[in-house]
Amino acid sequence: MFDLSLDQLAAWITSKCWSRVALQMPEGVKSSATDVIDGLSRRTAASFIVIGDPCYGACDLCPDHREYADGLIHFGHSPIPSLPAGDDVLFVEMRADVGLGGLVEDALPLLGDNVGLLATLQYLDLVPEAVRRLEAVGRSAAVGEGDSRIAHPGQVLGCNHSSAASVADKVDSFLFIGEGDFHALAAALGTEREVIVLDPVRRELRQTSERRERLLRQRFAAITAASESQEFMVIASSKTGQRRMQAAEEAAGLIRSKGRKAYMAVMEEINPSALAHYRVGAFVSTACPRVAIDDAGMHPRPLLTPPELEIALGERSWEDYGFDAIIGGE
Ligand code: SF4
Repeated sequence: MFDLSLDQLAAWITSKCWSRVALQMPEGVKSSATDVIDGLSRRTAASFIVIGDPCYGACDLCPDHREYADGLIHFGHSPIPSLPAGDDVLFVEMRADVGLGGLVEDALPLLGDNVGLLATLQYLDLVPEAVRRLEAVGRSAAVGEGDSRIAHPGQVLGCNHSSAASVADKVDSFLFIGEGDFHALAAALGTEREVIVLDPVRRELRQTSERRERLLRQRFAAITAASESQEFMVIASSKTGQRRMQAAEEAAGLIRSKGRKAYMAVMEEINPSALAHYRVGAFVSTACPRVAIDDAGMHPRPLLTPPELEIALGERSWEDYGFDAIIGGE
């Protein structure tokens, strides 16, 4: 499904005269790791080492690859422009080899006259074709520029929908090309526009409104439960691209200003077993917003994002609910 362009990678490694190269891959690509190493070993004189820890985004860029290798190839994510990586790091973005079929035309009854286009990295190559098809039937199509966390026009991350926000006042609805609902929900909640998911792999269209209502009910329950807690633990991520110490300090300050106890922690992986030891009523995560939202069902105690904490403590109204976002440069 993805073109890994091993010849180009081999040429890059050879041009750098590197003898050992570290490879970092998201979980869905790790099954190709041994094929990639075999293919690159046939084409170069270098040896290779896999960075085996989980990797969810360019925010997870291996911070100490120079301990193991001369350079790093990071697969499956675009760079985060506000996080300079160094010229010994190569990003292999891996666009999906799929087409739109007739899905844009099928989506027309669900879209307004003015449509914003969004996509995850793997499907960005489909955006210009979607624009052409919308314009061919008389719809206007807008592709927004994101902030300095976003590498490409129209691209959305689970933590950043700034490319949607930049054109929200010009569009009636968005067409999001990608898999899963999280990015689309982030854009829907951040822009208050309907977002239609065009999933080119499942070959299906989905509205986000029902999923949005279900998610809001779950978040309301978590916020209500946390609002009773007298003791919170505020977690900052140790990952380079998710480290928001200032947000964590502000969350702890808010909790204390309400006469409650705030403990702070820094950790790399935030999961139920990492949190199980701490005797507090609720947690606040300033790391990737997906940790609190996507994994909510796994956590026995409430795990909130910073905007949700503000609602729990009466500093923000429920009507003003929004997904947490990591702003470029933060
Ligand atoms: S913080 Fe989360 S959503 Fe943002 S790039 Fe990293 S893994 Fe993706």
